Amino acid sequence: MEYLPAGFSGASGHEQAGRRSFVGTPASRDNGTESSDRPMPDATPSEEKPKPAPSSGTLGVLRVFGVPVRFHFTFVLLLIFLLFIGVGERQSGAMTALYVVALFASVLLHELGHTLVARQYGIRTTEIVMYPIGGVSRPERMPKGWEEFWIAISGPLVNGLIAAGLFAWLATQHQFVPVELLRDPTDANLAQRIATGNFLLFVFNLLPAYPMDGGRVLRSVLMLFKPEEQATRVAAGAGQILATMLGLYGLLYSNFIMVFVAMFIYIGASQEGAAMRGRLLTTGVPVRAAMITDFRTLTHGQSIRDAGNLLLATSQHDFPVVHGDQVLGLLTRAALVRAMLTDGPDAYVASAMDRAPRRVSADTPLSDVLQDLSGPRACALAMDGDRLVGLLTSENVSSFILLRQVAMQQQARAQAR
Ligand SMILES: [Zn+2]
Repeated sequence: MEYLPAGFSGASGHEQAGRRSFVGTPASRDNGTESSDRPMPDATPSEEKPKPAPSSGTLGVLRVFGVPVRFHFTFVLLLIFLLFIGVGERQSGAMTALYVVALFASVLLHELGHTLVARQYGIRTTEIVMYPIGGVSRPERMPKGWEEFWIAISGPLVNGLIAAGLFAWLATQHQFVPVELLRDPTDANLAQRIATGNFLLFVFNLLPAYPMDGGRVLRSVLMLFKPEEQATRVAAGAGQILATMLGLYGLLYSNFIMVFVAMFIYIGASQEGAAMRGRLLTTGVPVRAAMITDFRTLTHGQSIRDAGNLLLATSQHDFPVVHGDQVLGLLTRAALVRAMLTDGPDAYVASAMDRAPRRVSADTPLSDVLQDLSGPRACALAMDGDRLVGLLTSENVSSFILLRQVAMQQQARAQAR
């Protein structure tokens, strides 16, 4: 295939003199709240609230209380693994299955605890994803202040209540067995194992470190007498320390499952810390301030070959497809490559483009769209009414956050002098 980087007639450059405001005072929390509650100007609801894409690597959907529950493929592998190793000489297959289903239900009920309390505050949950070390709920917006405390603590409390209920029932039945015997699963100690599992979920999730619920509880309590950024840093730091200790313990005692869990916690703590910093650094800043304004577009009559040329000639990965002033869709790099393979270079870009790309109003607070742009290669069209004014990608948002962080550090240093 031949590429002529000079031949992309019809592609137009957009440039707009926008005032960039990553330098300056961090937006106060009050401002952030106000701006995110403000109705968006000139945009239809369908433009503002695109259906969030399901998390990658998930299989199957189960709807509980209207919330889609998805299963990460590693979780499905774990279920199969548990069923295989669980079938021993002293436990029937049916009881093994029951045990695995009961633990799964406990984790799901934990997540539903978060979901239902969040609903009390008017926060919808867009999905629940089941991972090997637990479930993760994705709220539509981040909770604030005490909302975070109650939403976070509700999940572990569900497990605490299940454990307490089962233990109380076992006590009335005089069915307790010594804890050492629980290592040897039998049909008779099934209820006590489920109760112990829930007790462990209760304790583990309340560890005061990110990404556990206890980390969020700690953060919301610390925020009573510390700025949000510091509170976040403490919770994330605690998560990393905990993960390091667990990892060392696991290595010393050759407990590799513990090393695995420690890795999950470490990564989770770093990600949560970064996400929270990103949210803080973008609060009160509109999309307009961070979007790419110097970009190229394709017209609907251009070919996949033209798009390929443009991909090579620029650093852009996603190209809006336009007809006059009207935006018809978005051609991503992945779609371009796919079209090149299946339809060939002479196909029209219009046949390969995404016809319903994510659109955000340029006046939307950046912090509101961060979550939608968290995936790699995510791209949204920034609109001013019906007019395309910019592109917002995960890469340029992270550049913006980085610049703003540096600017704020310099400012803090100048003030300290
Ligand atoms: Zn939880």
